[in-house]
Amino acid sequence: MLSQGLLIRLCRLWTCRPLWLKTLLGMSVGIGVGLTFGEQAQWVRPIGIYFVSAIQGLMIPLVFCSIITGTTSLLKSKKLDRVGGKAIGLYLLSTALAIGIGLMMGWLLEPGSGAGLGAYQQPTPLAPAMLIDEDASRALASQNWSIAGDKILPIIIFAIALAFSLNASGRRGRPAILFFASLAEGMFKLLQMIMVLAPYGVCALMAWMVSIHGLELLLPLLKVIGVLYLGCILHVFGVYTLMLLLLARLNPIHYFKSIVDAQAVAFTSSSSMTTLPTCLACAERRLGVCHVITEKVLAIGAVFNMDGTALYQGVAALFVAQAFGVDLQFGDYVTIVIIATLASIGTVGTPGAGLLLLSLTLAAVGIPLEGVALLAGIDRLLDMARTTVNVSGDIVVSVLVAQSEKGLDVVVYSDVSAGEDID
Ligand code: ASP
Repeated sequence: MLSQGLLIRLCRLWTCRPLWLKTLLGMSVGIGVGLTFGEQAQWVRPIGIYFVSAIQGLMIPLVFCSIITGTTSLLKSKKLDRVGGKAIGLYLLSTALAIGIGLMMGWLLEPGSGAGLGAYQQPTPLAPAMLIDEDASRALASQNWSIAGDKILPIIIFAIALAFSLNASGRRGRPAILFFASLAEGMFKLLQMIMVLAPYGVCALMAWMVSIHGLELLLPLLKVIGVLYLGCILHVFGVYTLMLLLLARLNPIHYFKSIVDAQAVAFTSSSSMTTLPTCLACAERRLGVCHVITEKVLAIGAVFNMDGTALYQGVAALFVAQAFGVDLQFGDYVTIVIIATLASIGTVGTPGAGLLLLSLTLAAVGIPLEGVALLAGIDRLLDMARTTVNVSGDIVVSVLVAQSEKGLDVVVYSDVSAGEDID
């Protein structure tokens, strides 16, 4: 009786924890199981494989709808007024630079090398349960991964072409655009629902991988955290400083001092959406950006601009490719840039959104989706850095647009102590 009560209490305690914490715990338990049981821990492998297969099954329709939605919102943005147009131009510029930095850091520092997962066998989705005969399962496996590898590029090109034609169809194309947007939304929701199982999937995959590769697997995970944080620091202090100096001739130190509150909220909440009110307050009261500009530019930024997330896509894609010994060609890098940009447009800044986008990016270039499970356990740490960059980018663009539109109170901007407190 007592033990039953304890069990119920433990279950309650478990279910009300945030997903990131449960996934981190799942990862730790998996590592413990892998180390303790060694080879015997491999029986949990099917649980992990089913989790990855569930994500994998969603990828093609999700990529297709997200690309259409991203491209059409980009085309629609051309019809925005001058302020919105400038904001989107600057957001695209900083996103492109962020992905570039992410790819460069991943390429130079090779966070995934040494994980030694190269010899690792691609899983067959149904084989673990022996539901189908071996030939069929082999055919299924090869088809599955070649869909991700070879056939996705025509799908991306077709989706972009369709987005252009729907946009050109004017009013008649509108229902289809809305249909794809709503389908993408629904599929992201489904992906989120699958991710609820991440603690168990990640636990099983970690147990299995650690049982084969030992603790050596963990060093690359620490490395990827270091590389991402380094990339984020480089982007915020390098790119934003240059943007402020070159595009607006403003002292960047004032900007950095004024956005600490927004960065702190972003770092702790991992949500750009939650940080929006603090961003508005920092931009208006501390930096002197007029309300008309912040209202529009920061609202667009919260859904449109994700520099940190884009940078993460570059680092994480290279990390997983290196860890699994996948050779990326020039075309793959281009695909990563396109997917990371288009898929992030229209994705609202919420905790863990970047991890969902990563599954799109990996699928697009045929990198094993086990990488998502590998990174899921430490995602919160990565998300804190990404979100901080995301909101810093939104605010910098609001300052730049305000300066060019004569909507910046230079006295407030230059004198940080003159700015009001933010509560
Ligand atoms: N959490 C991030 C944000 O809210 C998105 C991400 O997961 O990268 O901006």
